[in-house]
Amino acid sequence: MSIPRRASFWLTFCIISIFLLSACGGATSGTTPPSSTSSSSAAINVVAAENFYGDIVKQLSGNRVAVTSILSDPDIDPHEYTSNVPTALAVSKAQLVIENGDGYDTWMDKLLSASPNSSRIVLVGANIADHKLPDNAHIWYGINNMPAIAQAITAALKKLDAAHASTFDNNLATFKQSLVLLEQKIQEINTKYKGTPVALTETIYLYQANPEGLDVLTPLEFQKAIAEGNDPPANTVVETNNQVAKKDVKILIYNVQTVTPITTNLQNQAKNLNIPIVPVSETMPPGKTYQTWMMDQLNALQQALATATGH
Ligand SMILES: [Zn+2]
Repeated sequence: MSIPRRASFWLTFCIISIFLLSACGGATSGTTPPSSTSSSSAAINVVAAENFYGDIVKQLSGNRVAVTSILSDPDIDPHEYTSNVPTALAVSKAQLVIENGDGYDTWMDKLLSASPNSSRIVLVGANIADHKLPDNAHIWYGINNMPAIAQAITAALKKLDAAHASTFDNNLATFKQSLVLLEQKIQEINTKYKGTPVALTETIYLYQANPEGLDVLTPLEFQKAIAEGNDPPANTVVETNNQVAKKDVKILIYNVQTVTPITTNLQNQAKNLNIPIVPVSETMPPGKTYQTWMMDQLNALQQALATATGH
């Protein structure tokens, strides 16, 4: 007995419908329920005292964060910064705060104690850094400090968003790999220019000049005073100026963000004598990442050394 054509159609339709419904049902229960989807896709609220930390958090999170970076203006000397109301508000709402510490951003400590929050995670770069120089807060210039800091940031992200732990681990591996290129570049400069005498206006670049093997002739007291916004001792100013005037130094590594009449004078003197000048900055310039910023500066340094030494 044959089934009438119409009945056959409806039977097929029902079977397909049941199959599709159950398939859909299975798919629905297999994916994340709506409630946890919304919570896991919500951005983590981060405040970074300095924009390079903000950039690194973004890279490590894969953009699962909403970052407010406080120090990002290339025309502002971070050593002289004072906070304001919008900054205080951002800090009060943050789930994760990253500051440099070691006296570099004491304004952040004040903002944190003004809005106590026991569930907020606070990371302090200088306390995590495992290659810190004495009396030198600029730990982010030490490429070898960054793996430990990235590790700590990743641990914090995993605490705040456990559902994406494996993504964060992958991003950490990628980030660490990108640091290897910077370390290689520093090694390359060391191999070629080790022992080259250089001038430095501020302590910031010691973190790279040391592994590059450069011979920094500028008195440390001079560099420290410029960093701290103090007048350098008179004899150190004379010595630093003479080293440039006599061309004892091959290049001048110049902190463009911590400028005083004394550093400007030094820069002009170097310019007049055709001593190559390598500008370096405290914070990350606009449009760069931590890695492209550091690599561009390293390339500029390498170029200046090549010009100055003729090889
Ligand atoms: Zn500085």
